[in-house]
Amino acid sequence: MTARAPQSRLPVAVLGATGAVGQTFIRLLANHPWFQLAELAASERSAGRPYGEAARWIGDAMPESVRNMTVLPCDPKCITAPLVFSALDASVAGDVELAFARAGRFVLSNAKNFRMDDDVPLVIPEVNADHLALLEVQRAKRGWSGGIVTNANCASIMAVMALAPLHEAFGIRRLFVATMQAVSGAGYPGVPSLDILGNVIPFINGEEAKIESEICKMLGRRSDTRIDPAEITISAHANRVPVENGHTVCLSVDFEKHVGPEAALEVLREWRGDASARDLPSSPARALVVTDLADRPQPRRDVDAGRGMTVTVGRVREDPLFDVKLVAMGHNTIRGAAGASVLNAELLVATGQAGAA
Ligand code: NAP
Repeated sequence: MTARAPQSRLPVAVLGATGAVGQTFIRLLANHPWFQLAELAASERSAGRPYGEAARWIGDAMPESVRNMTVLPCDPKCITAPLVFSALDASVAGDVELAFARAGRFVLSNAKNFRMDDDVPLVIPEVNADHLALLEVQRAKRGWSGGIVTNANCASIMAVMALAPLHEAFGIRRLFVATMQAVSGAGYPGVPSLDILGNVIPFINGEEAKIESEICKMLGRRSDTRIDPAEITISAHANRVPVENGHTVCLSVDFEKHVGPEAALEVLREWRGDASARDLPSSPARALVVTDLADRPQPRRDVDAGRGMTVTVGRVREDPLFDVKLVAMGHNTIRGAAGASVLNAELLVATGQAGAA
């Protein structure tokens, strides 16, 4: 499929624009060919202030175009954009995202609140673009013309990018996953430095349950009105590590029939993902790259692959307990959050499901 660009740039808003993911949205949207970054919103603490003052900008230079924009409240009455990216804290995302969807807007959410709802698509365009069809079910059930589309928890996204080709080819039965998650995954200011410097924290609240359920939903099959989750028994360990950006996931995988590392490698190398996701503005040249280097992937060396949208896989080898084990790593605030939402929005526009394509 050739991606269909909108005739003019669509105005978009970012909710939670001052946080770690909100800032990544701003970087990705500042010069986007299809979207015009029209409105920024955050909490009452920030509303009414110029963005340049309200946000504690992390890293490189803040785009000049946002510095003097006034931060708005997260209220659909104050925001006109038809397409809204949400980087809100989960404690508020539920009510706010519902209000926007009821007001006829499309919400592309990073928060956990609606991910597992039966009528809410949880999408990675390369993996399960067909799950977007749930939007029709959602509209009929909830009686709104807008919609909520979610992307998964950042660690689940890295895992699913590596697992999707293997599940498609061989059928996964059991999975053991251990994560090493970057501090930027905890938002800003996030984990206190004295807790994380020179340390590993073997607990991220709620993360293991999210990984175990979201992977099955994304790898599930769509029937007319629902997703039947993949029947995979998953055991997840989630760890916070002193890495700035980049979540690493170690995966041990058991298939319906025995599969060796060579067959797994061949499938991973050949995978290109759903054709509908291939020529969107945020699509990387390759969504999944296999490295042969013995000590990779590493966050420091591989996190920016494909402008942060490529997941790097390596160390595909025999597992004495299961069939094969491997390591996957990707950028948590780009492929695992803001970039994932932007790609979902591009797919919605390209397929005529949001805004005029
Ligand atoms: P964060 O840095 O803590 O930012 C939270 C944002 O929510 C800020 O803009 C904050 O605005 C806003 N906010 C907080 N309370 C609010 C309220 N009562 N009303 C309106 N806005 C409010 O968090 P983050 O890491 O960017 O994460 C944002 C969301 O994405 C979370 O749901 C998180 O679970 C999810 N997520 C994060 C990652 C990641 O890698 N970081 C990956 C995937 C998903 P103020 O600055 O005005 O307080």
